[in-house]
Amino acid sequence: MSKMPPFIPLSKPHITEKMLENLKQCLSSGKLSGDGSFCHRVEKKFEEKLSLKHALLTSSCTHALEMATLLLEGNPGDEVILPSFTFTSSANAILVAGLKPVFCDIDPTTLNMDVNDLEKRITKKTRAIMPVHYAGVSCDMGRILQLSQHQKITIIEDAAQGVGAKWKGHYLGTIGHMGAMSFHDTKNVICGEGGAFFTNHTALAEKAEVIREKGTNRKQFLKGQVDKYTWVQKGSSYILAEPLAAILDAQFDLMDTINHKRKQIDVFYRTQLKELEQKEVIALPIIPDYCTPNHHIFHILLRNEKERNSLMDHLRQRQIGATFHYLPLHSSPQGKKLGYREGDFPISEACATRLLRLPLFPDLTPAEQSYIVEEILNWARL
Ligand SMILES: *Cc1c(COP(=O)(O)O)cnc(C)c1O
Repeated sequence: MSKMPPFIPLSKPHITEKMLENLKQCLSSGKLSGDGSFCHRVEKKFEEKLSLKHALLTSSCTHALEMATLLLEGNPGDEVILPSFTFTSSANAILVAGLKPVFCDIDPTTLNMDVNDLEKRITKKTRAIMPVHYAGVSCDMGRILQLSQHQKITIIEDAAQGVGAKWKGHYLGTIGHMGAMSFHDTKNVICGEGGAFFTNHTALAEKAEVIREKGTNRKQFLKGQVDKYTWVQKGSSYILAEPLAAILDAQFDLMDTINHKRKQIDVFYRTQLKELEQKEVIALPIIPDYCTPNHHIFHILLRNEKERNSLMDHLRQRQIGATFHYLPLHSSPQGKKLGYREGDFPISEACATRLLRLPLFPDLTPAEQSYIVEEILNWARL
C-alpha cells in the first residue's frame, strides 16, 4: 500500500454554524437548566412534524425508556418482552422499574423482533412489549399492535435509532402507547447526549412530567395550575439541559436533509455491493414494504463469523472504522443472571456473529465511499 488515508470513523456528527449560534444565544440568556424556551420549541417541532400530542425532551433515550417503564406502574414479576438483539438500555429500563425482561428472538431479514416468537412468550404476566426499531427500520407494528390490543398489553417503542423513519406513514416512536428517541452523538439527529419521550395519551404525559421533575408537580406550578409545588410521587431528574436543547433545535431543522444524505450513501453501498450479494458472499439489509427507513445503520451479513472478522480486520487495517454490533443480551453476564443461556436465541446469536456495520454519516465523501467499497471488493478477491 502506498499512502494511508486518514481514519474513516463509523459515524460522525454533522456540525453547523446554526448550532453554534443557538448555543451562544442560550448561554447569553443565562437560562441553562432544562425546560426553557429552546426545550419547548423543540418539543413543539416534534409534536407538529410527527402529529404527536406530547413530546418531552429528556437527558437521554435511556432515561426516556425509564420514564416509560416507571409509568407502567407494574408489580414485581410483571414481564416486558423485548428482543435479545438490542442495546443494554432497553433491558436496563425494565430492571430499573423493578420488572422482568423477557427476551425474544429476531427475524434474520430485518434484525427486528420476530413476531411469531414474541407471541409465544406472552403470558398472563406480560405487562408490555418493547419493539426496538433496529437501524431505523420499523418493526412489524401491524402485528404487534394486534397482539397488544387483543391482550391489553402496553407498547413502549424503543425508537432510539428511528428519528424521521416511518411505519405505514406513521413516525416511529408515535405508534405505541409510549416511545423513546435518542439524540446521542452516534444517532441521525444529535445534541451530544439527549432523548425524548413521546406519547399520545395526556394522562401518561402528565405523569411523565412529574417523573421528569424529580417527582414534583413543578410543571403544573409553572403553568399556573397549582399555587406551590411539592413532592407528589417517585421520580428522577430526566430533563435535557437548555444548551443541549439549543443544539438540538438547530439539528431538528436538518432532519430530512441528514436522512436524505444518508439515503444516498445507502443507495451507493447497495448498488456497488450488489455483485457480492448475487455471489452470495454477503446479504444486504432488507426493508419491508411497510417501512420508510432513516438509514441509521448500513450493515451487511457475512456467511459466518470467520469471514466477518476477516473483512472487519481487512477494513480496519486500511483505516476504515467498520464494526460489529450488539452481543445478544441473553448470553451476556447480566442475561445469565436472569436465567438465560447461550443457545436460547439462535438467530440473534448467528446474526451477531455475521454482522458488519459500514461507516455511514452525512459528511462521508464520495471518495471515501468509493474507497470503502473498493476495499470490500479487494477483500472478496483475496
Ligand atoms: C442508542 C440507543 C439507546 C440509548 O440511547 P441514549 O440516548 O444513549 O441513552 C437505546 N436503545 C437503542 C436501541 C439505541 O440504539
